[in-house]
Amino acid sequence: MLDTANRATAMLRDLRRAGLKLTPQRIAIVQLFASDETHPTAQDLFERLRPSFPSMSFATVYNTLDTLARAGLAGIVRLPGKRGDAARFDPNTAPHHHAVCDGCGAVLDIGAGTLSPTTAAVRRLRRLAPGFSIRAVERVYRGVCSRCARRPSQ
Ligand SMILES: [Zn+2]
Ligand SMILES: [Zn+2]
Repeated sequence: MLDTANRATAMLRDLRRAGLKLTPQRIAIVQLFASDETHPTAQDLFERLRPSFPSMSFATVYNTLDTLARAGLAGIVRLPGKRGDAARFDPNTAPHHHAVCDGCGAVLDIGAGTLSPTTAAVRRLRRLAPGFSIRAVERVYRGVCSRCARRPSQ
């Protein structure tokens, strides 16, 4: 797996390849995002960057993340939960599942060797959804994160 600094470098290289100019704003977006494992929305990152870049627009943040996703350097996750179902961006491009907390809406990465379907999954699907061509199997674990589990219920 790439460490955070390498990940940011790879993202910046691909943004440039995609034709985006590497402005100080875009570099700041990428550096913050590359080290963020909370699956932030574009709005989350926009709000965290605004104090340092008062003139930055939401569109700049969104387009930068969207370009990364198109280049395969970020995932887009939509998991309805406590925090709504806005697109959340994921700098972790290694195969993984997600766990979503019912309490705070946190989304955690659950490492997986592969998302490729097993032959058993292919066989089951062939029976349940004839004609469907399967690409990947992703799991969503629903429950309560350790922080929320410790918090006394109100
Ligand atoms: Zn939680
Ligand atoms: Zn993830």
